[in-house]
Amino acid sequence: MDSKYLIDVEDLYGAHNYNPLDVVITKGKGIWVWDVEGNKYLDFLSAYSAVNHGHCHPRVVKALIEQAKKLTLTSRAFRNDQWPLLTKEICDLTGYEMVLAMNSGAEAVETAIKAARMWGYQKKGIPENEAEIIVCANNFHGRTVTIIGFSSEVLYRKDFGPFTPGFVEIPYDELGALEEAINPNTAAFLVEPIQAEVGIIIPKEGYLRKAKQLCKENNVLFMADEIQTGLGRTGSLFACDHEGVKPDILIIGKSLGGGCYAISAVLSQREILELFTPGTHGSTFGANPLASAVARAALQVMQGEKMVENSAEKGEYFLDKLRTIKSPHIKSVRGKGLLIGIELLSDAGGARRFCEALKKEGLLCKETHEHVIRFAPPLIIRKKDLDWAFKKIKKVFKEID
Ligand SMILES: *Cc1c(COP(=O)(O)O)cnc(C)c1O
Repeated sequence: MDSKYLIDVEDLYGAHNYNPLDVVITKGKGIWVWDVEGNKYLDFLSAYSAVNHGHCHPRVVKALIEQAKKLTLTSRAFRNDQWPLLTKEICDLTGYEMVLAMNSGAEAVETAIKAARMWGYQKKGIPENEAEIIVCANNFHGRTVTIIGFSSEVLYRKDFGPFTPGFVEIPYDELGALEEAINPNTAAFLVEPIQAEVGIIIPKEGYLRKAKQLCKENNVLFMADEIQTGLGRTGSLFACDHEGVKPDILIIGKSLGGGCYAISAVLSQREILELFTPGTHGSTFGANPLASAVARAALQVMQGEKMVENSAEKGEYFLDKLRTIKSPHIKSVRGKGLLIGIELLSDAGGARRFCEALKKEGLLCKETHEHVIRFAPPLIIRKKDLDWAFKKIKKVFKEID
């Protein structure tokens, strides 16, 4: 079947809640993908960092297949033999004391919100139904009604109200605003250490550390959404590690499933997560044996193949190279590890046309908000492949000059 047919069918029967590049991918291996016509592309998006391991990583796929043949789902009515091993491995790796697994990132954010509110009432003594959670402008935390209710993006919110109360928005990267917003009813501060979706916005050095300090002084939980930035994407295990910050609640997802399966998790200390008691939260597929086996393999591969270190090293290398591109369209080039954005000037005609041109050159990436091109290749990428990508990027900037 050719691309045109598949695109037409999808557009007819599938809801149009995305605006994908018209490349119909049928196969992936490592950093490469192939479309149905057999054209080969370098994946420079990695499914928004869910495919950090590269496509169909053999060790992750092996774990998936072996577990799929053995046991896939029990529900939490019974125990299984994979989830316990994953809990220990996650806690050993991260230094947290407890973990709760869900499926999508948004569900993990919802879980963190519930945990924070529960802690606020039971531990901090906030009067019932008065708990507040401080969030940042231009955040992206997922798509549930509660989460979009505290988004700044009109497109995410319009016609989806009414929304869940209890959220207070402040500007990102402004400590004064955080200090002012905190009051005795504040249970938590929810923040992305780098705002990826809105255009790879990196806060000033010291912001996270001082925000954490403010939270600590005021008995407010510091909750980091590291669904995209976590597990090596920014060149350290977590983006908060760059400032030596250990969040009270850490939210992960995406590449936890090694690009093969949906699994997300909330990590915290015992005094917080132990507040969940039977019946207070759950998910039929959460912590299922298939997800757990895949995540175990994904974490092993991440460590065994030194993906975090590779992200730091190759990210720095690539960022330096990108900064040598001279183009009248570029406003700034920024990034951490292999999470990189090129921001274009507002008269550059939008990032989309650059992504379309790069696609023609065999490089797949995606604009994020109108003017930023995001580069986020799998963390297993080698120098020579980055050199290849750089040539293509340079060529496209020259041609669109
Ligand atoms: C992707 C993402 C989410 C949502 O995850 P889903 O699995 O799509 O629900 C939440 N927060 C951040 C920072 C993300 O990048």
